[in-house]
Amino acid sequence: MISAKGYAAQDPKSLLAPFNFNRRKPGAHDVQIEILYCGVCHSDLHQVRDEWGGSIYPMVPGHEIVGKITHVGNAVARFKVGELAGVGCFVDSCRVCESCKAGNEQYCDAGMAGTYNGYEMDKKTPTYGGYSNCIVVDENYVLHISEKLPLQAVAPLLCAGITTYSPLRHWKVGAGQKVAVVGLGGLGHMAVKFALSFGAEVTVLSSSASKEADARKLGAHHFVNTRDKAASKAVRKKFDFILDTVSAQHDLNFYLDLLRTDGTMVMVGIPPEAEPVEAFSLIGKRKTLAGSMIGGIRETQEMLDYCAENNIVSDIELIPIQQIEQAYERMVKGDVRYRFVIDMSTL
Ligand code: NAP
Ligand code: ZN
Ligand code: ZN
Repeated sequence: MISAKGYAAQDPKSLLAPFNFNRRKPGAHDVQIEILYCGVCHSDLHQVRDEWGGSIYPMVPGHEIVGKITHVGNAVARFKVGELAGVGCFVDSCRVCESCKAGNEQYCDAGMAGTYNGYEMDKKTPTYGGYSNCIVVDENYVLHISEKLPLQAVAPLLCAGITTYSPLRHWKVGAGQKVAVVGLGGLGHMAVKFALSFGAEVTVLSSSASKEADARKLGAHHFVNTRDKAASKAVRKKFDFILDTVSAQHDLNFYLDLLRTDGTMVMVGIPPEAEPVEAFSLIGKRKTLAGSMIGGIRETQEMLDYCAENNIVSDIELIPIQQIEQAYERMVKGDVRYRFVIDMSTL
């Protein structure tokens, strides 16, 4: 075993606090990574506070991990000591089911091994995430990271990046299409960057009027404050594609009303409460309501390479780990501009 340190939640109510634990010694196929930066995803907060149910404690959150390789096992072929590497939302999967074979490990029939708040594929060894100084992962679940981009701003690509890139690619969003991004937070601001990069006309639908200037600075063509009834009415039946990144309860029927005929709305946000959908919101214009979860290893690498080529990173606020609770409080208020990233040297 190797000793590791990090920050953990002991239960849904207490604050994150320093925590010592063990990780496995790297085996023949493993890579050991010294974690330099870890992004703060709203999913961390949902799970720390057990908002989705079933949380496992103690919990070391964090699945937007970047760092330097400090050790590789004998059989590791794709990585060398000293290289940069990344780890996203899962660290293993069954490798033999239809989804795994297709490179969609996130949809593994046996259930992916989540980077934290989960178990290894033995279904009994708990996993601990990136709010920590090191991690040991099978090389097949580790990503190559370019030296070209500022590393701390790359970290959020491992979840916020791939979660927005994947559906935009899957539904072939591009030039000639009108796209709306609901919620300008960690995922939302990456969705805006990718949709613009793919050539779409992009509208931000935000509940925060104060984010208009930032949306425009990101390059969004239009901004609609969804609390403004008249402005929202003006974009009814307008969009080919809507990506919904909202983390809290909101009326899906209101957003479905903004799709044109044959339009598609994809949920990536995961509000803890169920959202009722009226059949009438879908049938009138043959609309599709769909969902998407992160992305597979192959596609995550494709996304990282695309970002390196096109100079795409996240807009971040770097924080010491001691400020994680303040970051969570701001996240609850929708005040993320636009991703908190923990500087792990402060641990
Ligand atoms: P975030 O940075 O906190 O952004 C969420 C945004 O949603 C807020 O900035 C806010 O934007 C908007 N919002 C919040 N409350 C709202 C409300 N009551 N009504 C309308 N809009 C509201 O969170 P994130 O890290 O981007 O994550 C967003 C969601 O995606 C979370 O639920 C997270 O768990 C989920 N997630 C899913 C996947 C996946 O694989 N599907 C992956 C990662 C995260 P405005 O101020 O612009 O309204
Ligand atoms: Zn995430
Ligand atoms: Zn599988």
